[in-house]
Amino acid sequence: MAGLYIHIPFCRKACHYCNFHFSTSLQNAQEVLKAIETEIALRSSEVEEEIKTIYFGGGTPSLIDVNAIESILNQIGKHFVIHQDAEITLEANPDDINKIKATSWKEIGINRFSLGIQSFEDDYLQWMNRAHNASQCFEAIDIIRETGFENFSIDLIYGTPGQTKEGWIKDLQTAIDLKIPHLSCYALTIEEKTALHHLIEKGEKEAVSPDEQAERFQLLMELSSSAGYHHYEISNLALTGFESKHNSAYWEGIPYLGIGPSAHSYDGKIRKWNIANNMIYTNGILNNSPQFEEELLSDNDQFNEYCMTAIRRSKGIEKQKIILLGGNNRLLAMNEMLKPYINSGKVIEDHDGWKLTNEGKFFADGIAASLFIVD
Ligand code: SF4
Repeated sequence: MAGLYIHIPFCRKACHYCNFHFSTSLQNAQEVLKAIETEIALRSSEVEEEIKTIYFGGGTPSLIDVNAIESILNQIGKHFVIHQDAEITLEANPDDINKIKATSWKEIGINRFSLGIQSFEDDYLQWMNRAHNASQCFEAIDIIRETGFENFSIDLIYGTPGQTKEGWIKDLQTAIDLKIPHLSCYALTIEEKTALHHLIEKGEKEAVSPDEQAERFQLLMELSSSAGYHHYEISNLALTGFESKHNSAYWEGIPYLGIGPSAHSYDGKIRKWNIANNMIYTNGILNNSPQFEEELLSDNDQFNEYCMTAIRRSKGIEKQKIILLGGNNRLLAMNEMLKPYINSGKVIEDHDGWKLTNEGKFFADGIAASLFIVD
């Protein structure tokens, strides 16, 4: 079991680009949190192994009281066996972080943060409709460090409308100069039903061209590698020893349990996702009638998902795993299918498997899709 994911579906403000499940009203927060604790108890029989990672995501888990996070952790402790060195991550936004809260998070067992920085520039933060400003980013990082947290990550977004090449270099260099142990750097995607999508449709914002996005990604690879970061997944980079255990386990295809509205779970064969509606989720759980959907993954689905996630990792696609999922014939077929990419310098092969080169990283999704088995 990879671990537990707990979705806290509340945010202070709606960021213009975001399509995650959250509410900006805290009116029903107590009921939702009660339902989350109830779901933990209801689903404890789904997990027999020790829990190695716990991840509070959202939404904005740092927005709710530390007591509420502690109560959820206590409930997890009652119903699961937590590994003594479990990685326990809390997603936090800079505007929620102060010395008192940081100290309390430490006391209740949080040992890793994922900070929603996104940019160190006020202009970019404002158009994104983030709730924080640039100076709060620096303060939050200082407080986290002063409280004794060494293991933390920041999110940065690139390829946003209005962000210049110089602006991206400045954001990235700031993170590097601050020696942030882990960086999650995402190319902005314009999701339907977001404010940003609407603004672009109306012509009030200009979408960033794929060429500019690619240029930003190239800069990310160059600057981070010369600063010693390990590009261990296409969107994730870490200084030695600071790779995310929780996300690495997802990418390994190790089962996990997702609790809370919209949370996804995977048991090795079945993918389940809770309803993305706070009220229906809460009523369902509290009336012992959980509302979720599920999908049984076929062998082909599992193979395709493996290709999709593995190719994004520095570990690459492992030959042993291909044999396990598709047999020796599939391994031979992969050899043939990957030859053109090897010849064009996008993929390299070694004894263990196939990995993307830096050039290949620009084509990760397309290369993965070309390896899929279609029913
Ligand atoms: S804080 Fe995070 S989850 Fe909430 S709206 Fe912004 S990006 Fe989305």
